[in-house]
Amino acid sequence: MSGPVSTIDAPAERTSGHSELPCLEISQDREASVGRIQVRRALPRKGRRAVGAWCFADHMGPASVTEGAGLDIGPHPHVGLQTVTWLLDGQVLHRDSLGSEQVIKPGELNLMTAGNGVTHSEEATGAYRGELHGVQLWVAQPGGTRHGDAAFTHHATLPQCDLDLAVGTVLIGEFAGAASPARHDTALVAVDLALRPGESVLPLRADFEYAAVVVQGAIAIDGRPVVPGRLAYLGLGRQELVLQAAEPTRALLLGGEPFEEPIVMWWNFVGRSREELEAAFTDWDTSSERFGRVASRLPRIPTPPPYWMRGSA
Ligand code: MN
Repeated sequence: MSGPVSTIDAPAERTSGHSELPCLEISQDREASVGRIQVRRALPRKGRRAVGAWCFADHMGPASVTEGAGLDIGPHPHVGLQTVTWLLDGQVLHRDSLGSEQVIKPGELNLMTAGNGVTHSEEATGAYRGELHGVQLWVAQPGGTRHGDAAFTHHATLPQCDLDLAVGTVLIGEFAGAASPARHDTALVAVDLALRPGESVLPLRADFEYAAVVVQGAIAIDGRPVVPGRLAYLGLGRQELVLQAAEPTRALLLGGEPFEEPIVMWWNFVGRSREELEAAFTDWDTSSERFGRVASRLPRIPTPPPYWMRGSA
């Protein structure tokens, strides 16, 4: 998770517009590998670079890991974004340049804020062997915080809400009367939905745009199937959303106020201009103090220059 984003994955282009009206766009994720694990990348994609401030979504595994071989993502930097890590199964050890060392398990949330710069690694725990299954999401930080300090928070418990045939766990923001304690810099929501077979009606905010990602099982929205490996973009203007589950299903609902600042993304960086991303690349490439150090046995991840810098030397 939080893997290096290749040129193809995240062209340095402006984020696309949102749909002011309810809609249903179902798009196919792209396969990618991050560390040792195959992922399905739902965001960013052509024509849909962000949903609210959510600008990256990887669905990872399930895959087998051991005590000594896990995700194995060595130290790498981030700028201008928050990483949200959420597991359905397994364990991951997070280390960062703030000195954090935190094992995350299912039901817990790791939230790392990069601000002007942070480095982290995602590793085997030294104890857990079994399946690893989860998601990692990125949130673009707004102008008011993106140059600020880095931070890391682990939330061991999160609020839940009961809908008729669903239990929602609120990772970020507020949903159905339950509010997460996790920090958010823009109006945002993320909910893990455990759906029993049948119809569930979710309360939504008309001023948010939303998307759904299924991580296990299957749902139908307006009669159209949404399965793992698909992103269902729902637009703005919905007061509620009706989901049909034919089997026990886990899905993530992501939403937020449309993020109006035009972002550019390269590798693990979110900024507003190529010049900012070039500076971040150079600072990482030259081991600048900006990104600090992580106490990890894994090797630091190098990156090639942004494609627009290549060939100019
Ligand atoms: Mn990362």
